[in-house]
Amino acid sequence: MMASGCATTPSLRGTESSIYIHGSRYLPLAEIAERHGMHFDWNAETQKITLTRDDLQFRLRVGSTVVVDSYQIETLKRPVLLHKGVVMVPETFTKLLSTLPPPSYRIHRVILDAGHGGEDSGAIGPMGLKEKQVTLDITRRLKSELEAQGLEVFLTREDDYFVSLYQRMYLADRVEGDFFVSLHCNASPDRQLDGFEVYHFDISYSSIELARSIAVAMEDRLPLANRGVRSARFFVLREAKMPAVLVEIGYLSNRAQEASLEERFYRQDVAEAIAEGILAYHYEFERRERFTE
Ligand code: ZN
Repeated sequence: MMASGCATTPSLRGTESSIYIHGSRYLPLAEIAERHGMHFDWNAETQKITLTRDDLQFRLRVGSTVVVDSYQIETLKRPVLLHKGVVMVPETFTKLLSTLPPPSYRIHRVILDAGHGGEDSGAIGPMGLKEKQVTLDITRRLKSELEAQGLEVFLTREDDYFVSLYQRMYLADRVEGDFFVSLHCNASPDRQLDGFEVYHFDISYSSIELARSIAVAMEDRLPLANRGVRSARFFVLREAKMPAVLVEIGYLSNRAQEASLEERFYRQDVAEAIAEGILAYHYEFERRERFTE
């Protein structure tokens, strides 16, 4: 995505919300809770905080170093603090959470986001194929595949018109999707470069699982190099309020890849591969659900 044409802007906002208080690194507790899929409950009167997820629970209090979790009592080196109205915890608290299993999300409703559109063509191949055409066509095919398997699908754009990144996020939030999947084509000054990449935003572990599942299916089904599952802070991923992945389905700057992406059979293969990845994740989640019941 070092792309000349692909304008999916990386966001500069990241983990800089950590600050130093009395020489120790502190992080906003609500942000940590979100990252671990935990419900954050703060009582301003008692100064007590409860984090919950399924049958897991952590209890903390402002001014105290004690953390009571579902199984034991832990002590932090520094106390929980209220800083400018925000509950802050010492960085060491995240170590307590790092051993938790990743949160899982059921997929009922998928938001599919065809990159670019309208005046924004995205990357353009040497023979003139536009990223916006490829992403829209594959998104439509992917929609049919997922709907045939009983998933609900919502598109952030249904035709060749411009939709801003903010509008995409707004639409995704409004329909309360469970997952956001954005499709793009990459481009590089190195015309030899080809292959696919799947990006996830590292605030949500479920996005990593979905990204891996999509990459495995694409590697199995497509004659394409797997250039890896990567963490990124692209705008669409950073702003999504749900687990989000972004698939760079191939390099339009590569002439052979452009020729493939021009073919409707190949586009169908790409759509089926991504669908398989999403469905594999979906079935794995359902299997786990049954197992824990
Ligand atoms: Zn793009």
